[in-house]
Amino acid sequence: MTVQAQIIEKIKAYDTIIIHRHQRPDPDAFGSQMGLAEILRTSFPHKKIYIVGKNVPGLAWIASMEEIPDDVYQNALVIVTDTANAPRIDDRRFDLGKELIKIDHHPNDEPYGDLQWVIAGASSTSSLIYKLVELSNGLLKLNANAARVLYAGIVGDTGRFLYSVDSETMRVVSELFKYDFDVIAVNQAMDSISEAAAKLSGYVLENVNILDSGVAYMILTNEIVTSFDLGDAGTAFVIPLPGRINTVKTWVIFEEQDDHSYRVRLRSKQIIINGLARNHGGGGHPLASGARARDKDEVNDIIDELDRLVRKSTYGYGKE
Ligand code: AMP
Repeated sequence: MTVQAQIIEKIKAYDTIIIHRHQRPDPDAFGSQMGLAEILRTSFPHKKIYIVGKNVPGLAWIASMEEIPDDVYQNALVIVTDTANAPRIDDRRFDLGKELIKIDHHPNDEPYGDLQWVIAGASSTSSLIYKLVELSNGLLKLNANAARVLYAGIVGDTGRFLYSVDSETMRVVSELFKYDFDVIAVNQAMDSISEAAAKLSGYVLENVNILDSGVAYMILTNEIVTSFDLGDAGTAFVIPLPGRINTVKTWVIFEEQDDHSYRVRLRSKQIIINGLARNHGGGGHPLASGARARDKDEVNDIIDELDRLVRKSTYGYGKE
């Protein structure tokens, strides 16, 4: 039996299913989690289906999370979407259930759980959730809201079809569009930023450092971020910006944390950067990875390593 068929069997067998996703969620994390919940609720009205983790005001248009007591996990099936490694799972009770399933599209660095369905090359976990419906021989049913949130997840993780996009992704989008939801409203929600965010975007584009090699970097200290008064919006919207500059090949944004370490967000047009991320305790996709830097010294090390990596790669749009 394929792993997808085994997952469908588990879903059939359990009355209570709790769905988790990663911390610091993005639209694909929320979309795959909520999309699966909507599908399961539509397909099995008598099962108890929950989504858990922290609420994110900026993603409230996709889903709001539920609070459940620990005892709900007894005899429950737990499914984690879009999360490569167990330490990143939001709501640490993910292992209190009877069985654990991982559905993800990141490299399978940590195959946690009893069953894993991981397609590392897929453009999003939301598209995998749609595939699960197709593979279920009519057992799993989509509704318009599931289609809406899965589409939001796909738009999010493909960078609005700029990055990891392929014919399979567009086929899934085409299928989702057969459901009655407001596509333009999703596109506008994905494209909107606050005035404060617009000002920080201007700051990043004006102040980003660009090395001769084509490496761009920006250090966002707490002081800088606080001065823009972003509220709870986070800074995810600035991450793609340096990549729009035509001389930039790879870029990295360092975000200072409360403990003065730095969240490291690496992106690249062609040169593979997840090995570098792994060398600094992180990981991720070949062209979109993350890590953590202890201090300014490690920040400088990462900039140097990236500079060396880009210099030794073939110039232009070729091989690494
Ligand atoms: P981010 O820059 O946080 O949006 O992350 C980009 C990609 O890198 C995502 O696919 C994450 O799963 C992955 N990633 C980010 N931070 C880490 C980390 N500390 N460890 C492993 N993977 C990470």
